[in-house]
Amino acid sequence: MLRPALGGRLHWASTETATGHAGHIEGALLSGERAARAILSPVANSSGVTAG
Ligand SMILES: Cc1cc2nc3c(=O)[nH]c(=O)nc-3n(C[C@H](O)[C@H](O)[C@H](O)COP(=O)(O)OP(=O)(O)OC[C@H]3O[C@@H](n4cnc5c(N)ncnc54)[C@H](O)[C@@H]3O)c2cc1C
Repeated sequence: MLRPALGGRLHWASTETATGHAGHIEGALLSGERAARAILSPVANSSGVTAG
């Protein structure tokens, strides 16, 4: 898993960055969900909305 770049504004998501099921579609989905949560988390914390 790669760390966000550009001061946390660039997040990486792909099957290659997945911690499980790398190389398969399941890895791509897990990686995308993880990146989406990481992006939404600061927004949720500042607005009181939960990021599911
Ligand atoms: C022939 C084949 C069969 C497969 N069969 C299976 C299977 O049966 N089961 C399974 O689990 N997995 C299978 N896979 C693997 C699965 O397809 C991948 O693991 C999955 O698609 C990876 O998703 P991803 O989002 O990480 O990358 P990708 O699906 O490759 O998505 C990357 C996207 O980024 C875009 N992109 C690239 N460069 C740029 C750029 N510079 N700017 C903007 N966009 C860019 C590409 O156009 C692409 O749309 C198969 C793969 C192949 C090639």
